[in-house]
Parts: sequence; structure tokens; C-alpha cells
Amino acid sequence: METTNVKAYGTEAAQVPLKQLNIQRRSVTSHDVEIEILYCGICHSDLHTARNEWRNTIYPIVPGHEIVGKVTNVGNHVTKFKVGDLAAVGCMVDSCRECEYCKEGLEQFCEPGNTLTFNSPDEHLGGQTYGGYSESIVSDENFVLHIPENLDLAATAPLLCAGITTYSPLKHWQVGPGKKVGVVGLGGLGHMAIKIAKAMGAHVVVFTTSASKTEDAKRLGADEVVLSTDEEQMTKYAKSLHFILDCVSAQHNIDAYLNLLRVDGALVLVGAPMEPLPVTSFSLIMGRRSFSGSLIGGIAETQEMLDFCGKHNIVSDIELIGVKEINEAYERLLKGDVRYRFVIDMASLKNEK
Ligand code: NAP
Ligand code: ZN
Ligand code: ZN
Repeated sequence: METTNVKAYGTEAAQVPLKQLNIQRRSVTSHDVEIEILYCGICHSDLHTARNEWRNTIYPIVPGHEIVGKVTNVGNHVTKFKVGDLAAVGCMVDSCRECEYCKEGLEQFCEPGNTLTFNSPDEHLGGQTYGGYSESIVSDENFVLHIPENLDLAATAPLLCAGITTYSPLKHWQVGPGKKVGVVGLGGLGHMAIKIAKAMGAHVVVFTTSASKTEDAKRLGADEVVLSTDEEQMTKYAKSLHFILDCVSAQHNIDAYLNLLRVDGALVLVGAPMEPLPVTSFSLIMGRRSFSGSLIGGIAETQEMLDFCGKHNIVSDIELIGVKEINEAYERLLKGDVRYRFVIDMASLKNEK
């Protein structure tokens, strides 16, 4: 198979900083779209994977699954895109398309296993798939999304993971008018959850460990903000919420949040820390509460989310950085110091030698 050599940013081991690498991209096959990547968001999952925190990383790794850019080439059977179109790729680049979940549009739960944008076996070239910290990407057109023309392109990139990961559970658990919704952790996912839950019509209460983010939370649309390290403030919200979306990237106290749910309330985890999160039986039993999880969203739902964001003018609040600042951005993510998504301007990689 013909390939092209492209520049990327990644790492060959967990303990070393990311640096420039060269990778191969396949030439387009009949159903493929080739995209010049203009911007790529930095998700905390990139950091978990680059540092092998989930114990499944195969090196070298090139992270990045919040990809937006321009179509530069299409295969001869491609019907959904043409050269020059804006296009996006999120967390998946393929799936079996035949299992019950793929048929339902739940490719994220594909039975034989989907192909993630990075760190999945690459059926075309062997080795592993490489993500969006790179000049270009090639994907089957069925896993490429259309971007609403009215949205700022760089600030749209984070919708491809942070957007869909919060939109999908908010919709599944029927968040809307009359519902009091808690959002825990004001980072990339958390700030998108505020904007989307507000657009869905919910009353949003944000829980943050960072006093410095309380003003921002209100600007982002929160109706109320709670400093979660202050027990007195937490007690006031006991048994008051219908739904909580937990977007925290590290170990934290789940019971403290379960106790804020009303009867039949649900706490849904999207944050993915590696450490177990202990739950006390009575936190669940005493209010017929449920504790669940949610994983990104399917392809059709991702397009639906992008269209919803286009309609409501929702994008991410971003800090645009060059590739050389990726390692510093990772350190800031670890400290919760993000306002509210880092996005890499990929022109900075082009200009590297
Ligand atoms: P992020 O931008 O780094 O935000 C995480 C936020 O969690 C921080 O800003 C901070 O908010 C809070 N936090 C961090 N450490 C904490 C601690 N020790 N105790 C309490 N709160 C803490 O991360 P992200 O990109 O939004 O991702 C969040 C998590 O979701 C990650 O684990 C990521 O891997 C996972 N994820 C899951 C899916 C999925 O499909 N389920 C998809 C994407 C990402 P405050 O300063 O407000 O407290
Ligand atoms: Zn992600
Ligand atoms: Zn499948």
C-alpha cells in the first residue's frame, strides 16, 4: 500500500516528553478522505494514554482525537466530502459496522471492537493508529464529520471528544427544562457540559475544587457554583439534584456526590481515572440512586451534536498553543490549570524542520 511520510508529535515511552516524530499515512483507498489537520484539541485521555496510565499504550504513540481541518483528497467512491470541504475526526476511525451496536449507531460499543483514532491496531498499515497531533489523517468517509460553517474552527475541535462525551449522556438521561444538573470538574469536558446542559434547558450547578474558576463557571452559563472542598457548601445541596455528570480525571469521593442526588437520581461517570472509586452501599440504596458510566458517542450522534452546537452557537473556550507547548500543557492539565481546552495550531508543526 502506498504511504506518505508526515510530521507528527508523540512519544516512544511513558516517562519522556512528547517530541517530533515521523509517521506514515496511507494513500486514500476508494472510501477514504484525506484531511489536512488545521487544529487538534488536547484531551486528558491523550495524557492518560501518552503516560500509559491505563496500562494499554503501545509505543510510539501519537495522541489527538479532536481533529478539524480541510479535505485534501478523496477516494473514487467517496460521496459525502469533496476536496476543500471542512471536515472533522473524533475518537473513532472505524468499526465492524455489522454488530448490533454498530447497527444502532453505537459504534463506541462495537462488539468485536472499534478502531480508535490512536493506539488501536491499524488494519491498513499494521502497527497502531496515530492520532491528530500530526499534519494529516486518512479515514473512511463514514467516520468523518461535517462542521457547521458558522463556528470558529479552532474552538470547534474540542467538540469532537469533550462535546460528544458530555452531549451523549445529557441526552440519554433526558436532561432538560425542570431538571437540576450537577457538573463535577471544570476542565475540558466539564465546561462543555455546562454549555450543552444550559442549551438543553437545564438548571446547572457546577462543583469545582478551584476557587479561581467560580467566576468563569458563571460566565460559561452555570446557575450556581459550589466549591467542593467546602463541606458546608456541599451539605446545602444534599438530595437536590436530578442528575450529575462527573468529569473528574483523578481519584475523588463519589459518595459525596451520590448524596447530592434526589430519589431516582443518577450519577454518570465520564472521567476515567485508573484508580478504583469506592462507593458506599447506602449512598445508592437510600434514594434508589444509580451510578453509571458513558463513553463518547456514536458517529450519527456526534454529527447531531455538531449540528446542535452550530444551531446554539456553542464552541469550546480555548487556549491556542504551538506543538512545542504540548508538554507544558500536559503539566498544566495535571494541576487542573486549564481554561478550558488546549488546542494545537497545527501550522506550528508545519513550520518545524
Ligand atoms: P481536564 O480538562 O484535565 O479536566 C479535569 C478536571 O477535573 C480538572 O480541571 C479539575 O476541575 C478536576 N480535577 C482534576 N484533578 C482532581 C482531583 N484530584 N480532585 C478533584 N477534581 C479534580 O480533563 P478532561 O479532558 O475534561 O477529561 C476528564 C476525564 O474524562 C479524563 O479522565 C478523561 O480521560 C476522561 N474522558 C472520558 C471520556 C469518555 O468517553 N468517558 C472521553 C473523554 C475524556 P476543577 O478544577 O474544577 O476541580
Ligand atoms: Zn478525549
Ligand atoms: Zn460493531
